[in-house]
Amino acid sequence: MTIENRKPAKALKGTTAARTTVRRSSSKSAAAKSGEHVYDTLIIGAGFAGLGTAIKLREAGVHSVAILERAAEVGGTWRDNQYLGAACDIPSNLYSFSFAPNPNWSRSYSGSKEILGYVHSLVDDFGLEKLIQYQQNVTRVELDDAQGVWMIHTDNGQVWKGKTVIMASGPLANASFPKIRGIENFKGKKIHSAQWDHDYDFSGKRVAVIGTGASAIQIIPELVKKVDKLKVFQRTTCLGHASARFLDL
Ligand SMILES: Cc1cc2nc3c(=O)[nH]c(=O)nc-3n(C[C@H](O)[C@H](O)[C@H](O)COP(=O)(O)OP(=O)(O)OC[C@H]3O[C@@H](n4cnc5c(N)ncnc54)[C@H](O)[C@@H]3O)c2cc1C
Repeated sequence: MTIENRKPAKALKGTTAARTTVRRSSSKSAAAKSGEHVYDTLIIGAGFAGLGTAIKLREAGVHSVAILERAAEVGGTWRDNQYLGAACDIPSNLYSFSFAPNPNWSRSYSGSKEILGYVHSLVDDFGLEKLIQYQQNVTRVELDDAQGVWMIHTDNGQVWKGKTVIMASGPLANASFPKIRGIENFKGKKIHSAQWDHDYDFSGKRVAVIGTGASAIQIIPELVKKVDKLKVFQRTTCLGHASARFLDL
C-alpha cells in the first residue's frame, strides 16, 4: 500500500501541501530500498500530536522511535502561526498536556510564541531531541507486504523503515489561499495567517481581511491599530464569541 503526499498546483510558497492518494504497491519495488534500521514506530510530524505520542510510547516501553519532521524546528501549528495576535482560544491550562502542566502561563489565552516555548520545553524535559529527524519531508508511505514494514520516503531521497507508522502531520499544517476568482492576479500584498510576513509595514495601508473565524478575531483587533483602513469580509456569520482574552483574563 502506498500513501503519497503531492504538492497541489497552487500550494503556498514554502509549503508542501498534502493531497493523499492510496494505492497498493508490489513488495518488490519497496524491497529494493531496504537494508537499514527498522524502527518499532515512526512518527510523522513534531507538533503536539507527534511529540505527545512519542512521550507516551516511551512510557509504554517502546524506545525504538523516530519522529520525522519536515521543518527545521518542532512546534507545528505554533511554529507556523505567528500572525498578529496569534493565541490559543481555549485556556492554556487546558491547552497543554495533563502530564506536563505549566503553572507559569502568563495569561489564560497564551500567545503563540509562549505556546511554542511550551512545546520546546516538552522536547527538553522529556529528552525528545535525539528522536527527531529534521528536514525530512515525507512524500510517500509504502507498506512492504512481504517484510511487514512501512517504508517512509522523504523528498531528499531517504527511506525510513518502521513496523508501525503514526501520522501526526496535522490537520491544518498545509496552508493555502482559498479559491477566489482572480486571486492570482491581485496586485497588492497577499498574506496568509499561517505564513505571516513580519517585515511587512501595514502603516497607512488599506487592508482587507477575508474570514471571521478564530484567527481573524485575533488578527483584526491588532491590525486595526496599524492600518489606515480595514475591511472585513465574511461569507457566513460566525458563531463568534467575545473572546475572554480581550478582557485581559
Ligand atoms: C491559530 C490556531 C489556533 C489554534 N488554537 C487552538 C486551541 O485554542 N485549541 C485547540 O484545541 N486547537 C487549536 N488549534 C488547532 C491546532 O492545530 C491543534 O490544537 C494542534 O496544535 C495540532 O497539533 P498536531 O501535532 O496535530 O499538528 P501540527 O501542529 O500541525 O503539527 C504537524 C507537524 O507535522 C509536520 N508535517 C506535516 N506534513 C509533514 C510531512 N509530509 N512530512 C514531515 N512532517 C510533516 C508539520 O511541519 C508540523 O510540524 C489552533 C490552530 C491554529 C492554526
